[in-house]
Amino acid sequence: MSDDASVKTIEIWADTRVRVSCRGESCRATVEWAEVVKSGLLMCFDTPVVALRTRHDEATPRLIEVVDRSTNHWASCPDATTLETRVTLAQLQRALEALLETMRTIDRYLGDALK
Ligand SMILES: [Zn+2]
Repeated sequence: MSDDASVKTIEIWADTRVRVSCRGESCRATVEWAEVVKSGLLMCFDTPVVALRTRHDEATPRLIEVVDRSTNHWASCPDATTLETRVTLAQLQRALEALLETMRTIDRYLGDALK
């Protein structure tokens, strides 16, 4: 297979591919999650996932697939913004909880100091 230099690719572990439905309420497309070799992060792809090339990892017999980076599902998902917002809200909630805990600690400290 010849390489098209204009296609930006990304390597994924073939044995981490999991096929599920997108959580987006107006999307529900069949997508596949896979672990990115370089970053170890999970990425969501449109299906079918097409391996442009494959190779075996040097240290293990695991199969690595090279896929077109532009098939990342968030590029085409109608709910990508909503899903991203949900993640951001969850992170914001955790940050607020941490802040509240800090304020409670300060409150206790001041309470003791003013006695
Ligand atoms: Zn989607």
